[in-house]
Amino acid sequence: MSPLGEAALALARRGLPVFPVRAGGKQPLIPGRHRDDKPAADQCRGECGGDGHGCWDGTIDLDRVRAWWERWPSANIGVRTGELFDVLDPDGTEGIAALVTLPGWATRPDCWRAWTGAGAAATW
Ligand SMILES: [Zn+2]
Repeated sequence: MSPLGEAALALARRGLPVFPVRAGGKQPLIPGRHRDDKPAADQCRGECGGDGHGCWDGTIDLDRVRAWWERWPSANIGVRTGELFDVLDPDGTEGIAALVTLPGWATRPDCWRAWTGAGAAATW
């Protein structure tokens, strides 16, 4: 298993739903299942049973995660947000300046931080 695959498994073991994204990028790696079916593309979040739903493919199923990273060992790791947690990803110095003015920012609980490809800190 590649280092990225091991990292994806570690995140999934912590309960974070992961999915493969393009190496060095942000776009989901699995082609959209309903690309040619506009109503389904807008509505299906994986209920059809297959992969290809962007962030909705995110899973904590270790066998599924392992299979993805065995197939695409250099895939970057996407983590679905909006359920267990959200991410604050300020853009540039103006974004960071605005973020620190949020009520409660100074007393926020301890959060994870990740460095983005552009060198900014995203707070989870
Ligand atoms: Zn579907």
